[in-house]
Amino acid sequence: QVKRAGRHDFRFFTAAMQQRAARHLQVVNALRYALEREQMHVVYQPQVSLKTGRIIGAEALLRWSTPELGAVSPAEFIPAAEESGLIVPIGEWVLRQAVRQARTWLDAGLPPLVMAVNLSAIQFRTANLPSQVAQVLYEEGLPPEYLELELTEGVAVQDPQGAIATMNQLHDRGIRMSIDDFGTGFSSLSHLKKFKVYKLKIDQSFVRDISTDSEDKAIVSAIINMARSLGLTTIAEGVETVEQLEFLREQSCDEIQGYHISKPLRPADFEALLSRQRD
Ligand code: C2E
Ligand code: MG
Ligand code: MG
Ligand code: MG
Repeated sequence: QVKRAGRHDFRFFTAAMQQRAARHLQVVNALRYALEREQMHVVYQPQVSLKTGRIIGAEALLRWSTPELGAVSPAEFIPAAEESGLIVPIGEWVLRQAVRQARTWLDAGLPPLVMAVNLSAIQFRTANLPSQVAQVLYEEGLPPEYLELELTEGVAVQDPQGAIATMNQLHDRGIRMSIDDFGTGFSSLSHLKKFKVYKLKIDQSFVRDISTDSEDKAIVSAIINMARSLGLTTIAEGVETVEQLEFLREQSCDEIQGYHISKPLRPADFEALLSRQRD
């Protein structure tokens, strides 16, 4: 009985695995042509100061859809792009789009924002990353203080010394860095004081049940207090309710981002939101 069930499970498992492998191949193949076929675009999610209630930043988030696959989630295609190395050209494209968009909004006289761009660990480790980023800023005419690179704790796992050196170079060029999904990576606390980051993005998994779960409350409160004593800014991700917002305000979290404010928006919709808050 047990053996038969086991064998059956195994067959079922391999079929599912085969299906997943086939899908993965399909996604990677399609990704190769995504940029030249103009299938990608960037959306922008507002980041709001809890002190002033105003939009002070935007996170650039990549979107991709194809006629064959429809809309593919970043949770699926970003890992595929990382494994295949395609994240390097794709990431460069996102950086340029986001920097150009920030410049366009400045030129339009909209309130100045910091543009946050996600950087994969693979991109972070490419040679000359700091000068490449500086080059994009120079070509698009954006002062470095308007750009923030979101790194994950993963950048420092393999080679902490190399990561610190790259961060120092970015910092020397006036480019800001934040740690994304903070609290999920374990590795960070020992390195944090050596990292030239200015902001911690508290992962949304801690924020989700913040109004009801006392452990999540304790974790978030500890992160905020630690950040304050290290002189770092905090932003909470995935804020969806006013209850979450109120708790974060009580804890003196600096900023929030999430559906409670707005989902990620196309540039025109983001502009409309920004101009509505203009004095
Ligand atoms: P992330 O950088 O942590 O981005 C936050 C994710 O949370 C985004 O998902 C955003 O749409 C979503 N989100 C924002 N507010 C809320 C909320 O209130 N509730 C919930 N449930 N979700 C919220 P998205 O756009 O699907 O991106 C997922 C991940 O894919 C990102 O996580 C990031 O790690 C990666 N990613 C997206 N764009 C890029 C990119 O251009 N380059 C790289 N390297 N990674 C990217
Ligand atoms: Mg991010
Ligand atoms: Mg995050
Ligand atoms: Mg994430």
